[in-house]
Amino acid sequence: MVERSELDNGNKLCMQCGMCCTGRVFDRVEVTDPGNITYLENAGFKLEKDDKGNPHFSLPCVAHRSNCCAVYENRPSVCAKFRCNLLERYLAGEIGFDLAIKIVEECKQLASELEKIEYYGATPQEKIVSARLSELHKKILEENNPGLRRAYAAVAIRAFALNKTIEANFKRAGKGASASTPASA
Ligand code: SF4
Ligand code: SF4
Repeated sequence: MVERSELDNGNKLCMQCGMCCTGRVFDRVEVTDPGNITYLENAGFKLEKDDKGNPHFSLPCVAHRSNCCAVYENRPSVCAKFRCNLLERYLAGEIGFDLAIKIVEECKQLASELEKIEYYGATPQEKIVSARLSELHKKILEENNPGLRRAYAAVAIRAFALNKTIEANFKRAGKGASASTPASA
């Protein structure tokens, strides 16, 4: 059992992570509390409705600044309730803080390397890794561009590693990639 301060309820880990607010894990957050809509709009959130009329906003989140949530007290309940696998394992004492942070840093490093690669970096930032990889693949099929093919190889290696780590650590069973539920940061 990993020893952990009783006061540390996971905020320490989330404040050094923020992956679920960046758009790298999920692509949107559903706003299920109607009373929160006006507050969020006034705070600069662009709310859209899906085909069932449910409001949501796209990630990366406009309120995610320096790994903190700028609307913490009024964040959507979906955000407040979300715990990724990594956080659950940390809170259960199954994994220590240093290892949890190492996993977070490895993900951030891979994501940062990906975003510097030409073509990948040019795809829309709000798309999660797998969607951006599919978009690149589609471009390859459509364009006869050797530079694009070379970039795809560099992207694919990192994207597959990143996706594997994200699936294992930051998603939870039953959560789809488009039904986003980021955590408090
Ligand atoms: S819930 Fe998980 S992904 Fe979100 S900030 Fe906390 S540790 Fe990171
Ligand atoms: S917790 Fe929710 S509202 Fe706050 S920064 Fe993350 S996605 Fe945005």
